Amino acid sequence: MRTLVVATRSAHKLAELRELLHLPDTRLVSLEDVGVEEEAPEDGDTFDSNAVFKARYYAERTRLPTLADDSGIEVDALGGGPGVRTRRYAGERATDEQNNEKLLRELRGLPPARRGARYRCVLALVEPGRPPGAPSARGGSGVIVRRGTFEGRIATEPRGTGGFGYDPIFEPAWEPPGGRTVGLYSSKEKNRVSHRAAAARAMRRVLRARGY
Ligand code: IMP
Repeated sequence: MRTLVVATRSAHKLAELRELLHLPDTRLVSLEDVGVEEEAPEDGDTFDSNAVFKARYYAERTRLPTLADDSGIEVDALGGGPGVRTRRYAGERATDEQNNEKLLRELRGLPPARRGARYRCVLALVEPGRPPGAPSARGGSGVIVRRGTFEGRIATEPRGTGGFGYDPIFEPAWEPPGGRTVGLYSSKEKNRVSHRAAAARAMRRVLRARGY
């Protein structure tokens, strides 16, 4: 059985990726499981650079194949922000509620057509000592990158308590304005359509082709 490090300390993220990647012949382990205490900085200016940096950083320390992710939300009316600052939008230690409140405040009064937004997820794979394969699959030397997006708009008030982060104020593009937010989706429904699911599906094909 092969081992793949998932560059996270979150049991939730590990469980979610385990389900989305569905690799029955591979043991997915967290940073805790492999005893890595160092913390990779996350100060790149793109999701790609953060995911790639993290995958390289932990692959170097573990000498094991490592999968890292970065994700966030881009809001059209904010010129694509908060982007890589999504988690700390309302401040370094901001809660989801504080982030949601700040975003609703910034967009107050804007009509649905100007509330467009998308979630993005980038997954990066680094395998120490193994060439990355076809050039088209490369996101920089030695790294394979796959991406997913989830198009939608920012609601005018929170609805639903499912998911996390911005889900209570994120309406998928196919919902009418004022329709269901992701906070009202079941996790099963969300996992069919989310940015993370799309990126994971694409990365699963890469991993299966590479023997995982
Ligand atoms: P990171 O990928 O852990 O750095 O954090 C990304 C941030 O983006 C999270 O803290 C959330 O605020 C937001 N985010 C990413 N994916 C989702 C999602 O599926 N639902 C809601 N918020 C998300």
